[in-house]
Amino acid sequence: MKLAQRGEFGIIAALRQRSAAAPGLITGIGDDCAVIAPQPGEQLLVTSDMLVEGVHFRWDWTDPVRLGRKCASVNLSDLAAMGATPRYLFLALALPGDLDTAILDAFFDGFLSVCGEHGAVLAGGDTCASSAGMTISVTALGSAATGTALLRSGAVAGDALFVSGSLGDSALALQQLLAGKRPESFLAQRHFDPTPRVNLGCALAQTGLATAMIDLSDGLLADLGHLLSASSVGARIEIETLPLSAAFRQALEQNQALIDLALSGGEDYELLFTAPAAAAALLADLAQKSATPITRIGTVLPLVNGLQLFANGQQRPLPAGQGYKHFAGGPESCILGNVCAVQEDAARR
Ligand code: ADP
Ligand code: MG
Repeated sequence: MKLAQRGEFGIIAALRQRSAAAPGLITGIGDDCAVIAPQPGEQLLVTSDMLVEGVHFRWDWTDPVRLGRKCASVNLSDLAAMGATPRYLFLALALPGDLDTAILDAFFDGFLSVCGEHGAVLAGGDTCASSAGMTISVTALGSAATGTALLRSGAVAGDALFVSGSLGDSALALQQLLAGKRPESFLAQRHFDPTPRVNLGCALAQTGLATAMIDLSDGLLADLGHLLSASSVGARIEIETLPLSAAFRQALEQNQALIDLALSGGEDYELLFTAPAAAAALLADLAQKSATPITRIGTVLPLVNGLQLFANGQQRPLPAGQGYKHFAGGPESCILGNVCAVQEDAARR
């Protein structure tokens, strides 16, 4: 069945049936607004992210379940980056009338599965027709105990710099896709179905161990640049300490230049945070409890030092690109994925 036959109200009715109850959600899908009762002693954190067909995703590469999952996950990653517990999501969709309803249902399966995994619910949204391609905009609300939300601006010189998980997998998968190759399943999963580091982010905020935090969507150097600017500090990164997956290391053995993907590639959705170096043992404990690896990759320095890259004790020039420009206050950059997808589309035309 085509979407045009089901219609806007058919879609909303189906979503309403699938929506769950949640603490604090007085009224969800079905009225003009959702009604939410904030819990005493908590603050709400709100974030939005948009995914556009042809810019952020392509149907010939992804499937609707994983697309739905990614739409939820990238928003939960932003909540995790500030230590918020995911609560309520809002989903705005612009849909082509000739879209198959089975595709939309699979998209909802993926989206709602991520919500369920993290105890969040779909609380509303908007549905309209699109004349070209599918656009998905998600707004996510999370909660954190008053005053515990972790900002980008709290890093101080002397702090250690940590990152969760591994770097560069998603960008490597994208590079292989662009070259017409099929990435192996681990890399593909990292690109199409990233894991938001919700448990770790919340634990870091609750324990007060971290001083500043950001999630990695635009690449390590670019996002580190944001954190350093916000905190008015510099930093030094030791390249040989960057956490790399087995699949990434295997590719790196064939081509050393791929290390740039770990430094500048986008869509890792890992957490980058600063904490006093003395907190390392407590952090190791936390990594175990949240089942999320944490690796120290450098040190926060006074602002005058800027951003420095070292490999085995030797200073290396920063890759010409986004990270440095951001840090120098240059123009905003697209994520690697956006740039590549747009270039690829232009080349096809
Ligand atoms: P209105 O016209 O008053 O804005 P809508 O007809 O757009 O109301 O929406 C009716 C209800 O359905 C609202 O509660 C809205 O939040 C919900 N809704 C609409 N589209 C979606 C969607 N894509 N996902 C979740 N809820 C939705
Ligand atoms: Mg509406």
